[in-house]
Amino acid sequence: MIYCVEDERNIRELLVYTLETTGFSAKGLSDGQELMAALKEERPELILLDIMLPGEDGYSILEKLKAASSTRSIPVIMVTAKEAEFEKVRALEGGADDYVTKPFGMMEFVARVKAVLRRCGHTGEEKEMTCGELCISVGRREVRYGDTKIDLTRKEFELLQYLMENKGLVMTRDQILCHVWGYDFDGETRTVDVHVRTLRQKLGEAGNLVETVRGVGYRIA
Ligand code: CA
Repeated sequence: MIYCVEDERNIRELLVYTLETTGFSAKGLSDGQELMAALKEERPELILLDIMLPGEDGYSILEKLKAASSTRSIPVIMVTAKEAEFEKVRALEGGADDYVTKPFGMMEFVARVKAVLRRCGHTGEEKEMTCGELCISVGRREVRYGDTKIDLTRKEFELLQYLMENKGLVMTRDQILCHVWGYDFDGETRTVDVHVRTLRQKLGEAGNLVETVRGVGYRIA
């Protein structure tokens, strides 16, 4: 569960919608009071926190979250309309894990959410995904084919996870780069091909589950 604290309804709904279509569960909250009430009900994996809020502002809410032992370890991404460097520094020094500056693209936003969850050891959910005999456990970062455990590097794992999450869909090299390497990765799409090759080798028999769609990208059917 990801909480989105944002007073502007359009942005709040867009954030929740984007997260939900990416496979997260998300709840929109319009101010600090609503956040505090929601925190009593459920502990989210991540909080997106707008700075300019009616009543208590984002910095002050962040300070409270970091001061209480029950909420201290919940990662926070600050959402700011301000470009000023000192605002970002203030957010990070206050204990925020990252920030995004409005207006931001949804791809960037999702990439940042995923990056923070990864850094904090969350992967969204403790789920298992299977494709025939191939099974990946996102929480334990484990891959098995039948009874055999397969060791993958972090990027290979994330690549496989991304394809499994989008089973049946063709993912372009650019989409894969953006999701696995991050929106600001300054590399070539060939990076993807190289990793797909080593991934296939390590998967052995299951390697042919990763299909090449010529001229487009890759898919797990
Ligand atoms: Ca606002």
